[in-house]
Amino acid sequence: MVRLKLHLKGVVQGMGFRPFVYRAAKGLGLKGYVINDTAGVVVEIEGPQDNIDRFLLILKHEKPSLANIYYQEARYQEPVGYDDFEIRPSTGSERNEVVLLPDIATCKECLEELTAHSDRRFLYPFINCTNCGPRFTIIERLPYDRSNTSMKGFQMCPACQKEHNNPSDRRFHAQPNACPVCGPNISLLKDDGTTITEGQGVIEALFEKIKDGKIVAIKGIGGFHLVCDATNDSTVALLRKRKRRPDKPFAVMFRDMEQVKEYAEPTVLEESLLLLHSRPIVLVKKKDGLLDTVSPHLKSVGVFLPYSPLHYIILKGLDFPVVATSGNLSEEPIIKENDEALKRLSPISHFILLHNRPIHRRCDDSVVKVVGGYPQIIRRSRGYAPLPVMLPFRLKRRVLAVGGHQKNTFAIGFEDRIIVSQHISDMETIESMSYFEEAIDDLSSIYKFEPDVIIHDLHPGYETTRWAIKQKGIEKIAIQHHYAHILSCMAENGLNEKVIGVAWDGTGYGEDGTLWGGEFLTCDINSYERVFHFKPFRLIGGEKAVREPRRIALSILFELFNDKVMDMDIPPVRGFKEKELSLLRMAWHKGINSPLSSSAGRLFDALASFLGILQVCTYEAQAAMMIEDLFDPAVKDFYSYNIKDGEIDWVPAFHDLVLDSDKAKAPTRFINTLSRIILEVVSLIGEKRVCLSGGVFQNSPLCGIITEKLQKEGFLVYTQKLVPANDGGISLGQAFFGGMS
Ligand code: ZN
Ligand code: ZN
Ligand code: FE
Repeated sequence: MVRLKLHLKGVVQGMGFRPFVYRAAKGLGLKGYVINDTAGVVVEIEGPQDNIDRFLLILKHEKPSLANIYYQEARYQEPVGYDDFEIRPSTGSERNEVVLLPDIATCKECLEELTAHSDRRFLYPFINCTNCGPRFTIIERLPYDRSNTSMKGFQMCPACQKEHNNPSDRRFHAQPNACPVCGPNISLLKDDGTTITEGQGVIEALFEKIKDGKIVAIKGIGGFHLVCDATNDSTVALLRKRKRRPDKPFAVMFRDMEQVKEYAEPTVLEESLLLLHSRPIVLVKKKDGLLDTVSPHLKSVGVFLPYSPLHYIILKGLDFPVVATSGNLSEEPIIKENDEALKRLSPISHFILLHNRPIHRRCDDSVVKVVGGYPQIIRRSRGYAPLPVMLPFRLKRRVLAVGGHQKNTFAIGFEDRIIVSQHISDMETIESMSYFEEAIDDLSSIYKFEPDVIIHDLHPGYETTRWAIKQKGIEKIAIQHHYAHILSCMAENGLNEKVIGVAWDGTGYGEDGTLWGGEFLTCDINSYERVFHFKPFRLIGGEKAVREPRRIALSILFELFNDKVMDMDIPPVRGFKEKELSLLRMAWHKGINSPLSSSAGRLFDALASFLGILQVCTYEAQAAMMIEDLFDPAVKDFYSYNIKDGEIDWVPAFHDLVLDSDKAKAPTRFINTLSRIILEVVSLIGEKRVCLSGGVFQNSPLCGIITEKLQKEGFLVYTQKLVPANDGGISLGQAFFGGMS
């Protein structure tokens, strides 16, 4: 007879881990207990050594699929003679180390009950169990008990309570457990706020509205969606107009994989991503001629499958897929409160479907894309946040990193982990800033976290920088944007040695006050050196140039041909009047409101303008996405370029491009040129490890080709898979620096 005490840390709470331990121990006749504490799970088992060994095997191989043990400590002790095995109530303590679970898509068993006429939860939109359902969006504090969730206002009925109390039931300690008798319910409202119907009749009424081409705001798991028939062009056009989103693709939710395949062509890898517990939006090639108003001028479309029971019920009753886009205006935070939705979404939607389970914390849908054969997270939010990035070393300080300006996330780091927040939004509005502050307070209070240092971007104009500088009584450190990109890649790959960092993106503030974005750095955790970069060019009109690819093209044309540009009849020039052109030329010549930039991302804009496919863009990375679609793997040649004194001169490449008589091949030649540049420069620098980060490396052909080329030459190539390569990932890099400094 022996007694073993186990401390388990990691993803071990909130997905049926204790019932699993209970069943395993009971099955082996072991005595003792299992308990959740704020560090994880503690198990004591007493019995014959053989059975304890068997228990450890079961723990290793049969634990719930969502469980992930980061750390396990086992100690044998004197037996005390327990009489039974029990699940003990949770305890609280000072510091919360437990991993908070993300929201989990409805499981198979719950789906079967949802569609079984005889089940007491038939078509009940809030069905869940210990294996599935909301977590991050309903938890107010730890430990994860019902009284600490937004379900605390709903008293379980006797039938639900019985399931909740029975260790052999699938709903044992399922904190959001509910049924039509005791749980939340839905109602349908007109845009003026009057209720049309509640409970039973809502779904039927909803079907009618959606089939009729109406837009409905639907409250989901992490916020509101705006939903409409994805195949109804005039409704989609109306949604675009009302949401002020002329071109940016909408995500489309499909009933099931079969329906996905009617409209799109997912690869095997993409299919498996669509079915993850996190149910992300996955970018998939669409079939010709379909969903063109949903993702205009692009070959791919963002596809996802239902992840809440309400989505399943809705999609099951419609024979077409629906647009399901975040309920907000352009790039603002997603809306989560009922009254806020009535106020702010009613101008966009005809009807509003509400429910009375509060969303404690908002969380947008996540977006995943297969890049060069591997999944990359483009937006990391629902289903991923707030899982930590685990580090193979311990941080020296507790750090808060405030992230960047676009696609903001922030991060907190302590001990051996960095927790990157859910997607916040672009930081352009008051709403964004207040959500940012609210989310920092929230994550800090959950983890009882107080930073020793705050890290922010070097850009003095970023709202997040201003916020950081305002914080009193704490050390603050500014980190250069592209260095942060590379640090992010290092952190998630567990690298703490010298690397070459290729950081290519739109723009970030450089140490010399110009806008960087086509950078080759050598760096380690202490410092970096900018060793090569693209030759700077002028962004004529500053911010305006970011929205107008033709201004970048003009800047390049002035560099190449000077005054002759005025008489050229090519796409970037055509849209301007003669007078405008001469003003722009003067601005370029004198550098008036035309900052210098070495951005690689902006060169994609110039290319799109030269090809005549995009002169003015309406969403970020629009040109890059269009160029990517035009890549042809059969084309192997490339344009010329020069590398001298740490500068990569793109002038010859654009000279070739302007004279190229076969413009259809230009996108591929351009991408091939960029990959040759990377290979050549990396070889010149000559470190073994290469980190690729920045939004440009979300370009699938470029990332795929360069990874293969570098590996063939013996380099070790690291890319971003856990957090976005775009600015959504820089908080991780900032936190890594702050925690190690
Ligand atoms: Zn379930
Ligand atoms: Zn009930
Ligand atoms: Fe960036």
